[in-house]
Amino acid sequence: MYKLSKYLVFTDIINPNENSSGHKRLLYSTRNGLSLVVSNEIYNNLTSNRQDLIESGYWQQLIDMQILVPIEEDEFELIINQNNANNINTLGLVLHTTANCQFGCSYCGQQHTKKNIDKVVVNMVLTYVEKKLQTGDFLHMFIVWHGSEALMSFDDLRKMSKQLIEIANKYKVSYHAKIITNGLSLKPTVFEELYFDMLVTNYQITIDGSKEFHDNRRMLKDGGPTFDIIINNIITITNQPWYPAGHKAIAIRVNIDKTNSGGIFGLIDLMESHGLQKKISIDYRPVENYVDNKFKDNHGLTKEQYAEFEIELLLYSLEKGFSIPDIVPERQYDACMAVVKDFVVLDIYGNVFPCYNFPYTNHKLESANKIGNLAFDESTFNQDGPLRNWYQEIATTKNACYHCNLLPVCGGYCPLKWQEGEIACPSYKYNIEDRLVLNYLYGKVDVREELLKN
Ligand code: SF4
Ligand code: SF4
Repeated sequence: MYKLSKYLVFTDIINPNENSSGHKRLLYSTRNGLSLVVSNEIYNNLTSNRQDLIESGYWQQLIDMQILVPIEEDEFELIINQNNANNINTLGLVLHTTANCQFGCSYCGQQHTKKNIDKVVVNMVLTYVEKKLQTGDFLHMFIVWHGSEALMSFDDLRKMSKQLIEIANKYKVSYHAKIITNGLSLKPTVFEELYFDMLVTNYQITIDGSKEFHDNRRMLKDGGPTFDIIINNIITITNQPWYPAGHKAIAIRVNIDKTNSGGIFGLIDLMESHGLQKKISIDYRPVENYVDNKFKDNHGLTKEQYAEFEIELLLYSLEKGFSIPDIVPERQYDACMAVVKDFVVLDIYGNVFPCYNFPYTNHKLESANKIGNLAFDESTFNQDGPLRNWYQEIATTKNACYHCNLLPVCGGYCPLKWQEGEIACPSYKYNIEDRLVLNYLYGKVDVREELLKN
């Protein structure tokens, strides 16, 4: 006996102008991230619990796609068990080389100081990594260079990369690295060294709209502009013969609120005029409150407003030929790094955190969630804070995520936001149907079309 899975999304009819006998909808199974085109008749039979009226030939596919699931199955428990059992054999480290940043962004919640990582802490980081790899539990190491602004201490980043790569080689572990940077110091020679010598293959650079919008919110600490330098860096880098365009190494992050939404289309046009659509990808996000900086409360769009605007942006970007990763989210086994015990943030003081939001802030949830400090033995570490136990919290509190049809692709998105008392849902909670249609029209990624007739 089978029942309709609770982890499904159906769109409205996607071809309303056709004869009603040919009406079809998209059906998205969040248990596996796959989409299917179904006839409206199958939709009606599924949602009215008349599976018996569906031709038996279609049953197997509905079962294979986990649209129909065994009647006795506890789907929530199964998803959480799969999440907990998922081991990607990866040691993940968000590393800082400095507590300094040249920028004074309007929405930043960090307090920067002109201090770089000490040699003593570098050695503690390397010892921590080596001890982890000695366990033999890992096949991969993934580094995210983060800050503050990682490139403000480039020499430390260079030395640490070399040493980390040596350790990875010694233990025959694959090495992958990404950097989150404001892009100001990312000159072509810096990029070339990062990419080819330090094996940094992914670059997240934030540009918050066209020049007048970006410079009004991502300015230097003294108020100076940054847009022209960053854009020039990106254009010069992506025009080099060695730039890995096919791999789209650079992702432009755009943080959006009421005050810059008018400047995003101009940025897209500018990037298109430089042929960047084939060389970079774009990642749109709503501005969030960042610890004590409640910029979003005063300037943010509502979740619904943002979701609606985002669809316009996605459509515009796709029409211009840009790549947008994850228009339709895939199955996600980790809400984020905070729930993964082998993924930690290490700041320049040796503090070990489960989440990006703690370094150089006075977060009220820090003491409950802090894992420890590298100066002390790992036996003193606390891996039992509320963020690490997020899935357990969903199960026991039966919060919104417990009841949500998007849980398998979302996981609760940002446990910290929920614990701060905010609604953490990603934009796709509010625009998933439009995203499914966009994906169908532009990407057709994983959209199957077998169940059109009945
Ligand atoms: S964060 Fe929102 S969208 Fe994600 S699982 Fe929880 S309720 Fe659903
Ligand atoms: S809890 Fe939220 S802020 Fe922290 S790492 Fe996860 S997604 Fe990021």
